Amino acid sequence: MFKIVIVGGGAGGLELATRLGNKLGGTKRAHLGNGRKAEITLVDRNRTHLWKPLLHEVAAGSLDDGIDALSYRAHSTNHGFNFRLGELAGIDRDNKQIHLAKLLDNDGSQILPETSLDYDILVMALGSVSNDFNTKGVADNCIFLDSPQQAKRFHNCMLNKYLQLGVQETKQVKIAIVGAGATGVELSAELYNSLEQVSSYGFHEIKSTDLKVSLVEAGEKILPALPEKISSAVKRELVKLGVDVRTETMVTEATKEGLLTKDGELIEADLMVWAAGIKAPNFLKDIAGLETNRGNQLVVKDTLQTTRDDSIYALGDCASCALPGGGFVPPRAQSAHQMATMVGNNILATIANKPLSPYKYTDYGSLVSLSNYSTVGNLMGNLSKGSMKIEGRVARVVYMSLYRMHQVALHGYVRTSLLAFVQRVNKVLRPRLKLH
Ligand SMILES: Cc1cc2nc3c(=O)[nH]c(=O)nc-3n(C[C@H](O)[C@H](O)[C@H](O)COP(=O)(O)OP(=O)(O)OC[C@H]3O[C@@H](n4cnc5c(N)ncnc54)[C@H](O)[C@@H]3O)c2cc1C
Repeated sequence: MFKIVIVGGGAGGLELATRLGNKLGGTKRAHLGNGRKAEITLVDRNRTHLWKPLLHEVAAGSLDDGIDALSYRAHSTNHGFNFRLGELAGIDRDNKQIHLAKLLDNDGSQILPETSLDYDILVMALGSVSNDFNTKGVADNCIFLDSPQQAKRFHNCMLNKYLQLGVQETKQVKIAIVGAGATGVELSAELYNSLEQVSSYGFHEIKSTDLKVSLVEAGEKILPALPEKISSAVKRELVKLGVDVRTETMVTEATKEGLLTKDGELIEADLMVWAAGIKAPNFLKDIAGLETNRGNQLVVKDTLQTTRDDSIYALGDCASCALPGGGFVPPRAQSAHQMATMVGNNILATIANKPLSPYKYTDYGSLVSLSNYSTVGNLMGNLSKGSMKIEGRVARVVYMSLYRMHQVALHGYVRTSLLAFVQRVNKVLRPRLKLH
């Protein structure tokens, strides 16, 4: 049986596993082998999937991952692929095997020993991690928003700080966010929304001035990847909310007290988030002799096969794919979605002995959600003849449609509509903020 192994069940990898499972994995219960044309295995180190662009909402408490996360095991059973819980430890290209590390329990005891999986085609879809550029003290004192676990850790720390307000001489909760890309900007706004909700759930003394968010950016403007008029519109909104936006401010160290800048200033903070850049995980560097770039990304050809091994594909944030006009495909959910579609097409073409197609990145624009306050961004395409600024309700609908597209790829239209309905009902039935 032809074996396809996908490592990483994120924005791209889970869509790919679902599509290939639906097409090749047989009807239901893939492990029973009924009608199976290929054996598809998805490996992830987590038991559940949460779409990464929602992590800032988990951090602020506006989203409860206990409700919104999707069980890999249940999903795989319904979509004709196998799920293996585990962490990639290495690739043996000669024997076409991947090695998974020992699976350990929280107390360090072994659940499963090291194991290997055979593949005919391997797809690397491991995403990215925050890059602290070896800045002193960041690893010890800042929280990264790379995983639901880290987002939940931030959420707990934030609630604890609110509990301390007014006692133990805590007069204000100070949160500093380094990096004013989409993650930093969206988190800043979401924190003010969660403050409003916190005060309506029994923390009566809390006022808007009890929260101070500093958004620190080394570059000249926030949202450097977006046009100037969008970045200044967003900055105005953030300042209105109370965010202290500091551009051209280089952080040189993170300490227990806060962030030290190049000019010797201390930006005091109780909680610090580092969102100032990403890289592929360090262990990918030169893995199994594959070509990687300075950010540890696997270099791929236009077919999305790695340059030194046609049986290994890479997609999403961990792939470095050159654009024909210069530059590289940006690390975004829309890129991971498009690449997953193309890798799927090419794997199906391989099985059918047909030629592979090149991947062409299409930029549909970028949108930034400022929580319930506003959504701003630009749309690209024929309709807008280049880039068109949008905001308000229309922007909100387009912003949400990116997540809905991901859900449609996983569940189809009917289930996605039902999920959207349940989400609306939950808004009425459940607290608007996760308080535990
Ligand atoms: C807070 C935040 C907001 C964002 N907002 C936007 C946005 O608005 N629009 C946008 O386009 N993009 C946004 N992004 C970026 C977007 O989330 C990523 O570009 C996208 O998720 C990349 O998809 P991926 O499939 O490459 O990786 P991911 O979605 O990160 O998935 C990687 C998967 O690999 C698994 N994994 C990692 N290492 C291992 C290992 N060793 N073994 C096994 N499994 C492993 C992880 O558990 C994860 O499930 C945002 C990111 C963040 C953090």
